[in-house]
Amino acid sequence: MKEETIVLHTGHRRDESTTSVAVPIYQTTSYQFNNTEHAAKLFSLQELGNIYTRIMNPTCAVLEERMSKLDGGVAAMAVSSGQAASAFSIQNICHSGDNFVSSTDLYGGTWNLFSNTLKEMGIECRFVDPAKPEQFENAIDDKTRCIYAETLPNPKLNVFPINEVSKIGKKHNVPLIMDNTAAPYICKPLSHGANIVVYSTTKYIGGHGLSIGGLIVDGGNFDWEAAADRFPMLNKPDPSYHGAVWSEAAKPLGPIAYILRARVILLRDYGSAMSPFNAFTFIQGLETLPLRMQRHCENAEKVAQYLDGHSKVEKVIYPKLMSGIHRDRAESYMSGGFGSLLGFELKDGEDAGKKFIDNLKLLYHVANIGDARSLAIHPASTTHSQLSDDEKLSSGVTPGYVRLSIGIEHIDDIIEDLDQALKKV
Ligand code: PLP
Repeated sequence: MKEETIVLHTGHRRDESTTSVAVPIYQTTSYQFNNTEHAAKLFSLQELGNIYTRIMNPTCAVLEERMSKLDGGVAAMAVSSGQAASAFSIQNICHSGDNFVSSTDLYGGTWNLFSNTLKEMGIECRFVDPAKPEQFENAIDDKTRCIYAETLPNPKLNVFPINEVSKIGKKHNVPLIMDNTAAPYICKPLSHGANIVVYSTTKYIGGHGLSIGGLIVDGGNFDWEAAADRFPMLNKPDPSYHGAVWSEAAKPLGPIAYILRARVILLRDYGSAMSPFNAFTFIQGLETLPLRMQRHCENAEKVAQYLDGHSKVEKVIYPKLMSGIHRDRAESYMSGGFGSLLGFELKDGEDAGKKFIDNLKLLYHVANIGDARSLAIHPASTTHSQLSDDEKLSSGVTPGYVRLSIGIEHIDDIIEDLDQALKKV
């Protein structure tokens, strides 16, 4: 099946008991076992099946299967938020005393998680500027468990060198985890060498702005056993699951050691499960993701063209308008468009940025991205306001920077709103 078909058909044809075509919301905590032998087999993982909704649920399973197939992975796990997906993706292979290497260009919540919360747990994050991909290698040592980066990090919108850095990872037996929240469908990190993909489904995958959720896709393309010393959590007996060795336990089920452990240990113990109702809302969004992404990208490109050269605009930040290596990467890693995120700098700085936002009528003033509606924010006075001036500049936020997440409305209405707000700046 092609992608447009996968998102509509994978994992569900009809409900076996009711013949329902729509994916039902299996709003249940528990599942009746056939008998004690069946229950024992499920608990010992000799057989896979539903036990308890904190660990798995049939509605969530359809979302998981569709996303895994769309990304070219082998399995996926839905969680309660994008933050939970990022945290679990690391905690599944890192414990106290370990380290991982991360790109500096990150969503602020992930930055906090890595530089404070995981640090308090004894997990060290070593930050590397993705402008110098070769430096990822210098940060790796024998306690390094993974590399983490975002495909299309805002506000700079420089596409991450996935292939270059995944090659460094391969050389040292270190997997690459990509947060692909800002570029689902248009970028397939696994096909460029990444091993694990995380999402905030809150954004484009839902698109409707109804639910908070996250997802981890296992590429099944990393040999955890070949680097057994580097990954004791997957290769040594796990005392919390009567001595299971995850790389062994997964063998009859496929190359799913990573996601199997995440599900039966992290979901079991931390409990950040996606609710079946939220999974249902994400399934509705996912069904139209390819169409929406095409429209998001088309609209953003037209907005970029409109802003480029506008008398009040100093600079437009959009992958298609970049030159050199950044443009090359955007072309080689994304297909069908350059995403819907776009930044621009107003000539008159911070006051102009605030005035522009306050005068918008159609675009929503929110901190979110990836909604079907167009969204705007002035980072210097909001998301990045706690940073020093130098920190703001190094993260790409100048005083007059405005971030737009362009929606799927009619392009004329979007441009008309931007135009009238710019006139008042
Ligand atoms: N990753 C990226 C790139 C994000 O933009 C966000 C949220 O803004 C997250 C992760 C966290 O997702 P959530 O808000 O669903 O926890």
